[in-house]
Formats: sequence, C-alpha cells, structure tokens
Amino acid sequence: MNVAEQFPEFTQTHVPLAPFTHLRVGGPAEYLVQPRTVDELTAVLGWCRTSNVPVRVLGSGVNLLIRDEPLPGVVMRLVAPAFTDITVDGTTVKAGCGAKLASLISATAKNDLAGFETLVGIPATVGGALRCNAGDRSGEIGTYVRRVHTLDESGRVAVRERDELKFGDASSNLDDAVLLTAEFALHRDKSEAIVKRMRKAWIQRRAGQPYPFEASARVFLSPRGQSARELLDKAGLARTKVGGAEVSERNANYIVTHPGCTARDVLRLMDLMKSKVRDSSGVELEPELVVW
Ligand SMILES: Cc1cc2nc3c(=O)[nH]c(=O)nc-3n(C[C@H](O)[C@H](O)[C@H](O)COP(=O)(O)OP(=O)(O)OC[C@H]3O[C@@H](n4cnc5c(N)ncnc54)[C@H](O)[C@@H]3O)c2cc1C
Repeated sequence: MNVAEQFPEFTQTHVPLAPFTHLRVGGPAEYLVQPRTVDELTAVLGWCRTSNVPVRVLGSGVNLLIRDEPLPGVVMRLVAPAFTDITVDGTTVKAGCGAKLASLISATAKNDLAGFETLVGIPATVGGALRCNAGDRSGEIGTYVRRVHTLDESGRVAVRERDELKFGDASSNLDDAVLLTAEFALHRDKSEAIVKRMRKAWIQRRAGQPYPFEASARVFLSPRGQSARELLDKAGLARTKVGGAEVSERNANYIVTHPGCTARDVLRLMDLMKSKVRDSSGVELEPELVVW
C-alpha cells in the first residue's frame, strides 16, 4: 500500500512542484497531498510516520528551492478552508497557517487592528511567515503571536504558548512538523493611521525588491550586525548570471529565474555568490532559502 492507494481522494502522484514555488523551478513530488480536514491531515501524518515516508509542508513556496530530481515522499499543501480560515474577535485574531499573509493583513486592517500593516507586500502563507518571523525593522509577525497550534510527525497536537516561543532575525523556534493555526493579539488604531503605515511599507518594500512579475527568492541570511545585501553589492554581484538564474539588479540578495532555468543553475549561482563574498569580505554567508 502506498500513499496514493491509502488516501486516493486527496492525493496526486508525480506532480511538478515548480508552479507552486516563487522561483518556478524544480522537479516533481512523488505524492502531493491536499487534505480537506484536520482529521485527514492527522491520518496522513500517522500513516507516513509508521511507513517511514518523509512529509514536507509547502506554504506559498517563496522561500523554497526544489531540486530538479523527483522528490521522494509527501509534499503537503494546506489549501482547504479548514486550514485557511481567519476569524477576528475583538483584538484577537485566529488564522489557519495555510492562509495567505495578505488575507490576514487585509482582515485585520478592515477591523482597524494594527500590527500587521507593515508586513504588506511579503509573499507568504501564515505558516511560512511564522517559521521565518517575516518582517523587517518596522515590524515582525512574531511580535503579535499569542499561541500556535502545531502537529508533530505522528499527528499529535501541541499548543506552543507565547512564553516558549522565540522569534529572531528571519528565524523562530517553531520547528514543528506542521503549523496548524495561530492566535494573535493586536491593538486598535485609527483606520487612516493603519492605511498610512501600510502605504509607506508597501512603497519601501517595493523599492528594494525584484519586480512582482519576476520569479524570485531572497537567498542569504544577514550575518549578525551586517547586511547580506551590502556584502553581495560589495562583491559586485548584481546581474551575475549562471544559466537561467540571475542576481537581481534591484537587490543583490535576490535571485531571479528566467525561462529554462533549472534548480542546478540556482545552486551554482548561490555557490558563486558565497565564494565571491568570502573572497571580498571574509564572511561565510548562510542560505535563507530552504532547499528540498
Ligand atoms: C519578492 C520577495 C519579497 C520578500 N520580502 C520579505 C520581507 O520583506 N521580509 C521577510 O521576512 N521575508 C521576505 N521575503 C521572504 C518570504 O516572503 C518568506 O520567506 C515567506 O515567509 C515564506 O513563506 P511561504 O509560505 O512561501 O513558505 P515556504 O517557502 O512554502 O516554506 C518555507 C519553510 O516553511 C515551512 N512551512 C511553510 N508552511 C508551513 C506550515 N504550515 N507548517 C510547517 N512548516 C511550514 C516549509 O516546510 C519550509 O521549510 C520575500 C520574498 C520575496 C520573493
């Protein structure tokens, strides 16, 4: 019995993953599983655990590079309403971790709740955003988290409370197998003030990123006290190309991909970027991009 035979109603086999990622490259998943309920999700996790089948969760695929070769095991997408629901109750907001960050921002702004407006323009699901504490100096998602419901590899539920959660620079300790729902505590503000901050954040973010129509990803973490972008600029990397992968001319810490690009091109460009920064600044850059 394999995953598709066990869960035929919501499993597809040999599904190309490139269309589900921002870089638009990479090979197929052995199984793409899109459960419709939490019970189905739990059943898949339990079965995969006992059958030794690896399980990975895909958010918006913005921080992911999928290798060109077929990816063994299950890739899970949490796109059913059971995983994307957002409810607002006073200043408390609950969101399924499969929801788009943009939907969370608009739901809260509509209710005059402040906190998330500076995250506008960050492509992510709530789960992906929590994993890497999405944001910047003007605000991070982690600041507003009250608790997160998670599942472990066997499908057991856990509640991670605020006091055990750690959010750092592009990182968090939310390393559970599945982030299921998150509860946030926001504060009220005037609608005009929220919209003003949102507009400012949008303009600033757009100015420092690849164009929205480009297939792109942010590549390296900024080392403590330094900026990855500045180190890459200093190494003169803007517009460097390997095959169909190119360092963005708008921000050297982003790679953009062109038609025909492969994951191998991206990996070779990343190696080149690392070695040029090592030569010019003596700094060893660590990837932010998760490679599957
Ligand atoms: C143009 C552009 C601009 C950006 N601007 C910013 C910015 O200003 N600030 C910033 O912080 N980031 C920024 N990013 C980075 C990016 O938006 C984040 O990394 C984003 O949070 C990734 O979310 P995702 O849903 O796409 O996660 P994915 O890329 O799909 O997954 C990333 C990791 O999270 C895991 N994951 C995702 N969802 C779950 C879940 N529900 N349960 C368990 N694990 C999960 C995956 O398994 C994977 O390990 C930018 C990226 C681009 C391309």
